[in-house]
Amino acid sequence: MGKKFTIEHDRSKCIGCGVCVSLAPEFWGMNNDGKAFLKGSKNNKRQIGEKDVAKNKAAAESCPVNIIHITDPEGKKLI
Ligand code: SF4
Repeated sequence: MGKKFTIEHDRSKCIGCGVCVSLAPEFWGMNNDGKAFLKGSKNNKRQIGEKDVAKNKAAAESCPVNIIHITDPEGKKLI
């Protein structure tokens, strides 16, 4: 298993635009409260492998309210 990156979603601030869902649907879904959710997360946080960083980083960069954050295995914030 490769090194783990961490995604965090500040879900309370989500405006439900759906961009993350369209860019990385394996990781992001829409909940019936009108906000996105990070699939497989616990407390809006989950780990991913390096191969899944690019698509989630693209989602984070496209999020209009900048509430998706990714940290590398050394704890450095990528976004
Ligand atoms: S891109 Fe950001 S604001 Fe839009 S649904 Fe995803 S987390 Fe929410």
